[in-house]
Amino acid sequence: MTKQKLYYGKDIEVMFNSEVCTHSGFCVKGLPGVFDLSKRPWINPDANTAEAIARQIDTCPSGALTYRRLDGEYSTQKEG
Ligand code: SF4
Repeated sequence: MTKQKLYYGKDIEVMFNSEVCTHSGFCVKGLPGVFDLSKRPWINPDANTAEAIARQIDTCPSGALTYRRLDGEYSTQKEG
């Protein structure tokens, strides 16, 4: 069973797969307003621009974070 969760934002949707996260901490250090482990939900896709969130997710070394941009820009998230 994959542990995937989707976080809905206005301009970007963020998908997180806890099974592949290597806890490198890049996301929480890079954009602490968006990725905040003390909050529930811990990802707030409306706390920054879709561009900034997408660029941050591109640095996730494990591939645990993916995204789908709703503004027509490039998305990592596979359909289906
Ligand atoms: S950057 Fe990716 S691998 Fe690192 S803690 Fe965040 S989700 Fe996990």
